[in-house]
Amino acid sequence: MQKLTIPLILILFMLITFSILASAALTSEAQAQPVNPSDVAAQPLDPPGVDLRTTNGLLPGTVLIEGDIVIAEADLNRDMNAGFEVNLWPGGVVPYVFDVNVSSTQRTNALFAMEQWTDVADITFVERTFEPNYIGIRDSSNDQNPANNSPIGVQGGLQIVNITSWNAIFIIAHELGHALGLVHEQSRTDRDDFVQINFTNIDPAKWFNFQEAPNSRPYPKTIYGLPDAQTYDFDSVMHYGQCSFAIECLPDTSCPCLFESITVLPPNDTLWQNAIGQRDHLSFLDELTMSFLYPEDNWYFLDGTHTGLPLGTFVEPQKTFNNAVSAMANNDVLWIQPGTYNAVGIHSKPSVWRAPLGSVILGN
Ligand SMILES: [Zn+2]
Repeated sequence: MQKLTIPLILILFMLITFSILASAALTSEAQAQPVNPSDVAAQPLDPPGVDLRTTNGLLPGTVLIEGDIVIAEADLNRDMNAGFEVNLWPGGVVPYVFDVNVSSTQRTNALFAMEQWTDVADITFVERTFEPNYIGIRDSSNDQNPANNSPIGVQGGLQIVNITSWNAIFIIAHELGHALGLVHEQSRTDRDDFVQINFTNIDPAKWFNFQEAPNSRPYPKTIYGLPDAQTYDFDSVMHYGQCSFAIECLPDTSCPCLFESITVLPPNDTLWQNAIGQRDHLSFLDELTMSFLYPEDNWYFLDGTHTGLPLGTFVEPQKTFNNAVSAMANNDVLWIQPGTYNAVGIHSKPSVWRAPLGSVILGN
């Protein structure tokens, strides 16, 4: 990603237009330290009186939706508009344990999947010692219905990440993406502008897997500040495949299907019809989203379209350029959403500006 380092001294009626199309990987910090899997204490995750093998890895009081998302049973019939507020891991620290049934090789793969996220965001997975909230990673291969699944964000107490596709690093990364707070891309309320869900090719009992979730992946508009057409992420590791839940397909498989469950609408069909649902990399927006959810300490956000509190954070960005730069410390980084901002004033702090998603005009 390109960056601009501009010591600003007396800028009057400044007009700067810049557009940076970032293509490189994001700033990397807090690289995961290599962990010897044998050092990670294994412990049974089953709560007293519960055999998780008989519940397909689901803790009491939880249910599965959208194929691989675990929610509290009490939330099942709740208005999704009101529910699914995502709780992030404070400080980006995610305590984890492995179930005793997870092999050394499986642990190595899980740690590698963790690295995919820690490489692009300020996230640290730490072996749990006494932390009250933590994820337990479990091998579901011997369950009655082996499956990959996870809750969304912090649940409180132990939350289980079930994995059966141990050799697919980015399926594990997908589940960890859920644990970190991401929801499926095609649950966006604007998804019908970009893809068509073919309910006739889906068992009605599975239709609920294509429910829209207004608060899912809640940041495309308020955070990116872009027209949706530029933020619907066909490449996301959090997108379903074209055959997900198709009548003749098992969940989470990518078998060729005669009648696809998801059709990409023109003009994106040529490029993306066969490419949605990839599980071999994080997309650019996957990385960017996660890096914004778990930002560096000196990152500051500016979005002129924001209507909430001007806190300079990712979720509550500053609204004006001048307020943003005056609130920043020397050498802080300002992420600017596309738009036009009044920048008249005297600015004397060195800072880094980044506009990875489109044109930014600073003027009067
Ligand atoms: Zn999922």
